[in-house]
Amino acid sequence: MKFFFGIIVCVLEIVHWRSIEATEKLEWPYVKPRYKKNTVQSPIDVPTALAKYLVLEPIEFHNFMSTDNEPVIVENTGYYLEVKLDPETKSKNKPWVTGGPLFKDKYLFQQLHFHWGRHNECGSENYLDKNCFSMEVHIVFYKKEYKSYDNAIKYPDGLAVVGFFGQESLFENHDFDELINIIPNIIPSEKETKGSFQNEFKFLKGLFQQKMYYAFPGSLTTPDYEQCVTWILYKHPFPISSTQIHAFHQLHAKEGGHLINQNDRKIQKFMKRPLIQPFINGRPKMIND
Ligand SMILES: [Zn+2]
Repeated sequence: MKFFFGIIVCVLEIVHWRSIEATEKLEWPYVKPRYKKNTVQSPIDVPTALAKYLVLEPIEFHNFMSTDNEPVIVENTGYYLEVKLDPETKSKNKPWVTGGPLFKDKYLFQQLHFHWGRHNECGSENYLDKNCFSMEVHIVFYKKEYKSYDNAIKYPDGLAVVGFFGQESLFENHDFDELINIIPNIIPSEKETKGSFQNEFKFLKGLFQQKMYYAFPGSLTTPDYEQCVTWILYKHPFPISSTQIHAFHQLHAKEGGHLINQNDRKIQKFMKRPLIQPFINGRPKMIND
């Protein structure tokens, strides 16, 4: 009798385990449904205790560390400091990301930009457990199969935004030297200058080694707030000194005066959206194709 009971329990366990796996595969991030209007808006205060663990492949960052000095444009848009690709960039050398909650889909690099605040206590757009950080960098990618950024934002899985927080520190972070040295050349609004992958992406090298992130569906933080983003927010902030943050404060805004990103959108409701963190399955990878 005990034996049969044991078998029944065992069978029930297997059925239960299978059903959990099957249900998970019907949910985000395996499928990226179109969420109802205003239900997955960004930015948010991430409630990290609610993050569900998921076994995921490591995230792969391709072509950010080009060795042949590919050009980039560094621009003060009047709203942000933005780094984008030079139109001359050879398509085979364009950076892209895959893996993690993006699975096998390829997302091509569109631009990266920084957020900072009037005070260094709070300049990030997103928060972690009510903690605001001094800065936040967003690396914006669009899904390759949608051909362009403008087309991709029409789809719930159109964009991937990889975010890193920056926290004011006592010491300078020399990974930012090259990018910060270029800032004096783009002080006026809408001024741009040429840079290179090697210099302007150098600070990413250390950041891409991180393993711990939170991923969730969300939106653009600028109008029309399209719900088209898979957000990947890394947990540990990079250090950056107050002098280095001050360099960003020198940039002029479109409407005159200094650019301080006061256009940042306020925190949106979490609304019980799915939230995951990865079970680490191998190291993050940086690859030059
Ligand atoms: Zn942003």
